[in-house]
Amino acid sequence: MYLLKNFYILNPGEQEFDFYPGSLLVKDGKIAKILKGENHREHQEKLLAEFPGAIEVIDGQARRLIFPGFIQTHIHLCQTLHRNLAEDMPLLQWLREEVWPYEAALDRQTMGQAVIMGLKEILSSGTTAVLDMGSIHQQEVIFDIMSKVGFRYTGGKAMMDNVIDPIPGLSETLAESIDKSIRLYEKFHRGNEGLLHYALAPRFLLSCSAELLRQVKIFSDENDIIIHTHGAEHRAEVDLIKRETGFGNIAYLDEINVLNSNTVIIHAVHLDDEEKSLLVECSASVVHCPSANLKLGSGIAPIDEYLQDGMTVGLGCDGAPCNNTLSIFSEMKLACLLQKGVNNDPMLMPAEEALRMVSLRGAEILKLGSMIGTIEAGKEADLVILDMDTPQTFNFRRNPAAAIVFGADARNVEATMVRGKFLYREGRFSETIEALDRCFNTSLRLLER
Ligand SMILES: [Zn+2]
Repeated sequence: MYLLKNFYILNPGEQEFDFYPGSLLVKDGKIAKILKGENHREHQEKLLAEFPGAIEVIDGQARRLIFPGFIQTHIHLCQTLHRNLAEDMPLLQWLREEVWPYEAALDRQTMGQAVIMGLKEILSSGTTAVLDMGSIHQQEVIFDIMSKVGFRYTGGKAMMDNVIDPIPGLSETLAESIDKSIRLYEKFHRGNEGLLHYALAPRFLLSCSAELLRQVKIFSDENDIIIHTHGAEHRAEVDLIKRETGFGNIAYLDEINVLNSNTVIIHAVHLDDEEKSLLVECSASVVHCPSANLKLGSGIAPIDEYLQDGMTVGLGCDGAPCNNTLSIFSEMKLACLLQKGVNNDPMLMPAEEALRMVSLRGAEILKLGSMIGTIEAGKEADLVILDMDTPQTFNFRRNPAAAIVFGADARNVEATMVRGKFLYREGRFSETIEALDRCFNTSLRLLER
């Protein structure tokens, strides 16, 4: 049990955010009780009397803030080792010449190294849950690591049965792709007491046959699981799909009846009006990855418009080769700044909107809204603790959301907790993470190219 006393708590809401000094008790992986107010000595007495037993008291010293652990709804942890090696290229060239050959070369060891490195980076920058896209192979390594660590992970192997001119080692048949995905689903979905979830991951239209997509949709409907796919990211990709099918990305998915409320479209930079309406009608979600879109020269998704239309929009860092950081702070800041800037309107996208994307909306996209995404008694204790008494977050009490989104970064993250367990605290990772790191990474320098 942990008693977090003398903290500030920022709880995201649909309209207003609740911000107050208070104390919070974590028991059996859950937020057991919250007491509001500054009288932390009284809180401590009350809570210790109500919850007897071994407890660690942590003093926030009226400078630390608790927010729901950040939820990233698009990331490729498997790509972390290719950071800083795929610069200044457009999407399709970047995939073909860099990302796919890299993924084809991943074995058990290098997959483990990539995932642990990525995990350390996201934990130390406040992320406690992800929607991850793996590669064609070695997905079970990712689930095994997540299971041992106790991280909240939703993800699945990339599905690619229809790559024109396939990369050696990175192709599969329709049957292989479906069978392998179903086997992984059966083995890991709702595993580790519900911390793991399987999501079907057809990579994008250019690498998937229509039949694969249809079968994915059927499996998703039958089992109520997420379909996680890239779409309408880059102009050249959209043009190619239009040439082959006569449709835009989303219009084609609708044409073959693949859109549903479980569909999560990553990027959605280039949509026509009909496609925007289709996404709203079928309650599909969109995930915004502003750094990746800018770096690959893909464009800027009209996120403010999507939000006005009522779309559910999440936020993610995408992969290390296209970002190149996996810290969600840069995405929160960019998501706000881009909409203000391109629309010449500083009223658009206040900081709260970005924080909603990584809390309430992220939880909704992962279908975990009843468990995570807010600070409420009874919810799972997935938390980030930020030290706000820093120069870059000065005056945070006046506007905590702005302080987090525009001023804070990974330096402000003191701790991240998943289901009541600290996975990162004051610069140190859990023993399991360090042990796995030693096991996979004999020497990272040997891997540098
Ligand atoms: Zn991606």
